[in-house]
Amino acid sequence: MPMNIAIDGPVGAGKSSIADRVAERLNILHLDTGAMYRAMALHMIRNRVNMQDEQAIAAACEEADVQVRYEDGAQKTLLGDEDVTGLLRSGEVSAAASAVSRCPIVRERMVRAQRELAARFDMLIDGRDIGTNVLINAPVKIYLTAAAEERARRRYAQQVEKGDMTPYEKVLADLNMRDEQDMNRKINPLCRAEDAVLLDSTEMSIEQVVDAIIKVVEGTYGKRN
Ligand code: C5P
Repeated sequence: MPMNIAIDGPVGAGKSSIADRVAERLNILHLDTGAMYRAMALHMIRNRVNMQDEQAIAAACEEADVQVRYEDGAQKTLLGDEDVTGLLRSGEVSAAASAVSRCPIVRERMVRAQRELAARFDMLIDGRDIGTNVLINAPVKIYLTAAAEERARRRYAQQVEKGDMTPYEKVLADLNMRDEQDMNRKINPLCRAEDAVLLDSTEMSIEQVVDAIIKVVEGTYGKRN
């Protein structure tokens, strides 16, 4: 059985960057499932699909070919043959990803692809429903969170570094709106699995969070070389 580690949590909890570091330390792959929903959202945006129309989303989803590849251990997310990895982080795509991820057919397809990958590779998989749905039997489950204001502050700092001057108040409002949608949707809402270890990173550094996760993993799998 491949090693599977599930990490879930709200927007901006640092899942992606922390998961990257943990996966590197353990020498396993990191599957960012949010990128798959984002690629699906990009397809919808390009095809001018009305995000309020579930039937239109379901129909457009049938034509979208979301794929994940690894190059030198790094995830590339593709739409058909096109590598769209660099196009997935905009505010527009974030909001659309949260909207399309409510659609049952979209989730069904993404979850199937995620399970296939997890069955083949040692992987750390991050998302919203990994421990509660995608890999319900994952031997290690982490629920990573932090206070909303702190998550928004970190996201704001990252964006400023990239030259994006969106005000802090808007970053916080967008983050709260997306969490609200993700936690209250009908299918597979974001919530902590009963058997997930809760990590609140509000007052922790990235290194401390990474160490804490490695400790949980070692408690289950033992030390890796
Ligand atoms: O993690 P990230 O912010 O990139 O995810 C983008 C959106 O994709 C989330 O807001 C959520 O709506 C959706 N998502 C999901 N299930 C996952 C991963 C992401 O519904 N496993």
